[in-house]
Amino acid sequence: MHSWSAPDVPSLPGHGLTVHLHDTAAGALTPTRGTDETATLYVCGITPYDATHLGHANTYVGFDLLVRAWLDAGRKVTYVQNVTDVDDPLLERAEQTGTDWRELAESQTDLFRSDMTALRVLPPDHYVAPSRRWISWPRRSSACSPTAPPTAVPLPEGAGGDTPELGDVYADLSVDPLFGTGAHLQPDQMIEVFAENGGDPDRQGKRHALDPLLWRRTRVGEPDWDGGSLGRGRPGWHIECACIAGKHLGSLVEVQGGGRDLIFPHHEMSESHLRVLRDTPAPVMIHNHGGMVGHEGEKMSKSLGNLVLVSELVAAGADPMAVRVGLLAHHYHSDWEYTDAGLAAATDRLDLWRRAAAGESGPAAEPLLQQVREALADDLDSPRALAAVDDWARAALAGDGEQVQGAPDLVRRTVDALLGVAL
Ligand code: ZN
Repeated sequence: MHSWSAPDVPSLPGHGLTVHLHDTAAGALTPTRGTDETATLYVCGITPYDATHLGHANTYVGFDLLVRAWLDAGRKVTYVQNVTDVDDPLLERAEQTGTDWRELAESQTDLFRSDMTALRVLPPDHYVAPSRRWISWPRRSSACSPTAPPTAVPLPEGAGGDTPELGDVYADLSVDPLFGTGAHLQPDQMIEVFAENGGDPDRQGKRHALDPLLWRRTRVGEPDWDGGSLGRGRPGWHIECACIAGKHLGSLVEVQGGGRDLIFPHHEMSESHLRVLRDTPAPVMIHNHGGMVGHEGEKMSKSLGNLVLVSELVAAGADPMAVRVGLLAHHYHSDWEYTDAGLAAATDRLDLWRRAAAGESGPAAEPLLQQVREALADDLDSPRALAAVDDWARAALAGDGEQVQGAPDLVRRTVDALLGVAL
């Protein structure tokens, strides 16, 4: 599926440093690999029933910094993102609103594309919608089929569901002794979080409450695909991401990312599927998760009615670059609240940078380039990088120190290439 058009990335002198990232499973900073290895990144995409709110934008701008830092360090990057367009929340929303699920998904994915373009986010190399791909996967590649895990367990006949004679297929997590080692939750917490995030711990006939759905057989009124020996139906959420990652990124996902609400069950379970599919103990090297963005005291969500949409901010006159600067003012790992005052401060900051970078000469830019590179290499510390740009901009406007011809041009290229902000 097409993603969106890529913004230009200006070239910079020298090269960036090895990026260290916070690994959720280890609870510590971990170095990413060297320049001789292609960086492989999988970021879970949107479920296309809500346009891009700032929580989404925060996640994708955060991983955009990672891609930019990797490219600057001289690494090749293969970046895969999915669109969760085959899953219950989308189908439920389509049903509630009397919309065709395909039209809903397409219109919301289009809005996402235009928001990402406005925010100058580099597009993934593979932008994958299960609805487009699933038809051929079970036949084309046995390694990417829900039947491929040796642990696929059909529900016994009569075990429940609308068409119990068909038998939905679940993964047997007991064959994966490493399941549960990433999220650091107690068994009862896992069941609770699983139930709150699309899981079905109480489904009759399952071997274990936590076992996740691999293949849901056809129900009346639901989209379905030919699943070969599984019959018609649709894949479960976690196997979708495991198959997409396995197909496009090979044996090792260097970084598996998303918002913190995906740590469990989604990432724990999709990694477990990958472990079994690939027969390897560690198919994911680093698990990296962004914080949650709140508004009016709550996490942003459609049900609470407190969404702040990028498209609405821009329609109301906000400069998309100010929105981006406002996101980068918070470390990707932290939870924060959107406020109009925060956006106004980001707009002022952008204005400061633009005024300072508009001249022909200014304080030397190489030290700033080095500071931004060091900040990004240190767990994508964007607040530190922004503070360094502030310092340069204030010095430039004050005419401090030796004035170097061309310095503002290098600052513009630095801010553009590494922070994705066009001045
Ligand atoms: Zn995912």
